[in-house]
Amino acid sequence: MKPLIVSTSLVSPQRAGAGFALPSLSLVACALLVLVAAGTALINSYYLLLMTFAGIYMVAAMGLNLLAGYAGIVSIAHGALVCVGTYATAIASVRYGWGFWPSALLSASVGLGFSVVLGLPALRLSSWYFVLITIAFTLAVTAMLNDLRGFTGGYGGIVGIPKPSLAGVRFDGFGLFALVAGVGALLWWVMHNLIDSRIGWALQSIREGDVRARANGVSTARLRLFAFAFSGAVAGLAGAFYASAKGVVTPEDFSFDFSIFFLFVVVLGGPARLSGPLLGVAAFYVLPELLDSLKEYRMIAYGVGLLAFSVFLPEGLAGAIAKFDDRRQARRAGPAVTLPRDAGAAVVESVQGMALRIRDLAKDFGGVRALDGVSLDVQPGSIHAIVGPNGSGKTTLLNMISGFYPASAGSILLDGAEVVGRGPTSIARLGVQRTFQTPKLLGELSLLENVRFGAYAREQASGLEIAFRLPRARHEAAALDAEALRLLALVGLAGRAHEHAALLPHGQQRLVEIARALIGRPKLLLLDEPAAGLSMGELDELGDLMQTIRRMGTTLIMVEHHIELVASIANTVTVLDQGRILAEGTPDQVFSSAAVVHAYTGGAR
Ligand code: ADP
Ligand code: MG
Repeated sequence: MKPLIVSTSLVSPQRAGAGFALPSLSLVACALLVLVAAGTALINSYYLLLMTFAGIYMVAAMGLNLLAGYAGIVSIAHGALVCVGTYATAIASVRYGWGFWPSALLSASVGLGFSVVLGLPALRLSSWYFVLITIAFTLAVTAMLNDLRGFTGGYGGIVGIPKPSLAGVRFDGFGLFALVAGVGALLWWVMHNLIDSRIGWALQSIREGDVRARANGVSTARLRLFAFAFSGAVAGLAGAFYASAKGVVTPEDFSFDFSIFFLFVVVLGGPARLSGPLLGVAAFYVLPELLDSLKEYRMIAYGVGLLAFSVFLPEGLAGAIAKFDDRRQARRAGPAVTLPRDAGAAVVESVQGMALRIRDLAKDFGGVRALDGVSLDVQPGSIHAIVGPNGSGKTTLLNMISGFYPASAGSILLDGAEVVGRGPTSIARLGVQRTFQTPKLLGELSLLENVRFGAYAREQASGLEIAFRLPRARHEAAALDAEALRLLALVGLAGRAHEHAALLPHGQQRLVEIARALIGRPKLLLLDEPAAGLSMGELDELGDLMQTIRRMGTTLIMVEHHIELVASIANTVTVLDQGRILAEGTPDQVFSSAAVVHAYTGGAR
């Protein structure tokens, strides 16, 4: 058993980062910038307006940050969505006499609606097409402003847009700035809550190629639509404030560079960082405006900035600050959380293991037949090992059971239900969890967060409850954090719970993947070479871990080269060779078979 060092944070395990004593540098920088902005806004009306618009742009850019930064969906249309929101408020308030707040709600809804419609094809098409679609939308919106003259006022635009008022207070001048700042702060908090939850992790795993997300049972289409809806609503809302702050809107405000501007701000400010949009707006809007001479050369400055950043600060301003911060924080000890392995075993609940029945399964990759008529029965609650030389089809088999590869022929029954034809998300939701030969953790997240993400399909709290930290979301998060920590203890990694996953060697990343799979309470667990890269001591612990999983009741299928490990724990062994089953039986029977020995020595490719 590992030494036991219990710290106070054991009582209430903290979220990654939360245990650090120092506030993050980006947060300090942003707080300072906001203070400076508020102070500057008091000097004169020019600065006041500048800071108000900076706030509005920051709000808009935060919406794009969720879509482009976190979910990795690059859109050129964000400025056009702000434009649509602007005109919605202008038209509703001036032509129809609506108040600001209903108009703003309309703007947000219109932004949301357009964004979702634009996003629908992106669920199927490649990202190239999506970029083209967003460019076309931007051009179409610009053209419409002039063409729908009766509605938009054409070149003359719309004048006399009212300022917001609430309970008799009219938000003008500094009041409007403060209101925008307040909306920005609220949005920041909401984004923070979302990003630090299963929703944020799922968005990020979609950006990283979505395999991880689907293995966790995330409906990636729904989540992408959420990202479109959220960013569109925020763009529309920013548009409402833009209209109100300007008082007059004309098509001139929405040239093509207005659309690109937001992408610049997000990319150069630091994508997928909460502080990115604020830093981006400060550096690429406020600064050029203040240095009057720079203003004319803004596009050139963007170009040069882009080149310089791509070489020196590829993760943008916020990314650079965060890197520096990591080094600074690393010098101070993180929270020392060490739990004994036994603490982990206590969290393991018993489940009803799943029965697997495979018949005549085949898989072709072009001309290569990776699996050729495989039939296999795995008893509930047993440990079934799959061994065989490299390229014999072991990983392919796991990929087919978990739904990542469609079958070319044959049948896979899980507890009697046919799953051929189902995708990975739907199979994961039946209670199938897996790990990957090449670990697929989110490297920027802590081990604890990665394990927590495995509980995605179990979480009850809705996106709204998470966004506003309502009681159910908070309690669930705390309970799952505690469970995740105990599962990390079970795989011997609780002491590193708050470290970035990317810092671990691959062997240990696979252990984290086992903990991540276990928090999903799998009925069937598929492990792809879990022992690879582990030390002798860790191998013994892995054996114990598998015994614990068997006691849970979970059916375990493991692809493994380590013959001793297989021999000591497996109930049944199947040997694959060139996509066919070469032998099957107890470890003793299989490993004494001449054919198997031949496949491993003479026949290995
Ligand atoms: P193992 O895990 O037993 O080492 P794999 O299942 O990874 O073997 O591969 C079995 C065969 O299928 C190999 O010939 C491999 O090249 C081929 N293969 C696996 N995945 C793919 C893929 N995505 N595309 C094309 N060929 C593949
Ligand atoms: Mg493999």
